[in-house]
Amino acid sequence: MHFSADVIIGGADYHHVETKLLDKKYRSYTDAYWDKRVMAPSSILYYVGLNKRLEGLQHHSLFFDTSFQVHGKEIYTTKEWPTNPLFYVGATSVTDDTVAPDGCENLFLLIPVAAGLTGDTEALRDQYFEHIVRRMEKQLGQSILDAVVYKKSFAHTEFVSEYNSFKGNAYGLANTLLQTAVLKPSCRSKKVKNLFYTGQLTVPGPGVPPSLISGEVVANEVQKAF
Ligand SMILES: Cc1cc2nc3c(=O)[nH]c(=O)nc-3n(C[C@H](O)[C@H](O)[C@H](O)COP(=O)(O)OP(=O)(O)OC[C@H]3O[C@@H](n4cnc5c(N)ncnc54)[C@H](O)[C@@H]3O)c2cc1C
Repeated sequence: MHFSADVIIGGADYHHVETKLLDKKYRSYTDAYWDKRVMAPSSILYYVGLNKRLEGLQHHSLFFDTSFQVHGKEIYTTKEWPTNPLFYVGATSVTDDTVAPDGCENLFLLIPVAAGLTGDTEALRDQYFEHIVRRMEKQLGQSILDAVVYKKSFAHTEFVSEYNSFKGNAYGLANTLLQTAVLKPSCRSKKVKNLFYTGQLTVPGPGVPPSLISGEVVANEVQKAF
């Protein structure tokens, strides 16, 4: 299929648009450039339903019960599967009784992990799930694993297959000085006059508010150019 347009704005993952939707001669950045980018973490996510309520659980909980230093190193330096990761628990059913049946709990668990890891298997995800839920059980003093009636996970594989996310990243580029402002992938193609980019991999950066601002930035750039 062929569409003609005066201006194109790529809102999908920048690397995907450049490397999968464009011929090599139209790419602004080389493979070596992309390989050198420092990525923000990816995540292993679990969507979980329990057939009971948990006492003392808050809407948001951050488990900083293990070494932040070790986990940080595993994400950014050694880039390996974490040994004893920190994690986040969102329990929306604590504050919203429409998200789970009466007497049940709706949980969202998130483990940050390095982007670009290989070996994302169901067995590994199950292993991490049991590991973090055991830590929750210890902290809350209640059994949880035996109350799981629904579990779905989402990790590198799905970040790539569903979002075409570069290296399976969840939050774009890491916020390092060398990847800030004009040092980010440009919102304007260097090779194609009417091609622009928006989203978390270009200016101003990752997160929902910056990604929305990125839409404003690119709209202004388009107006200036045309
Ligand atoms: C688990 C998690 C928790 C987060 N928590 C927060 C938070 O608390 N606060 C915060 O500010 N940010 C958070 N973020 C980050 C935030 O979600 C992202 O920075 C933001 O959504 C990025 O926006 P985007 O428009 O660049 O990309 P996306 O929202 O990913 O949009 C890109 C779209 O392009 C589509 N697409 C991909 N390929 C193609 C193609 N070939 N053709 C057409 N469409 C395509 C994708 O399907 C997707 O819909 C979180 C992210 C994750 C994963």
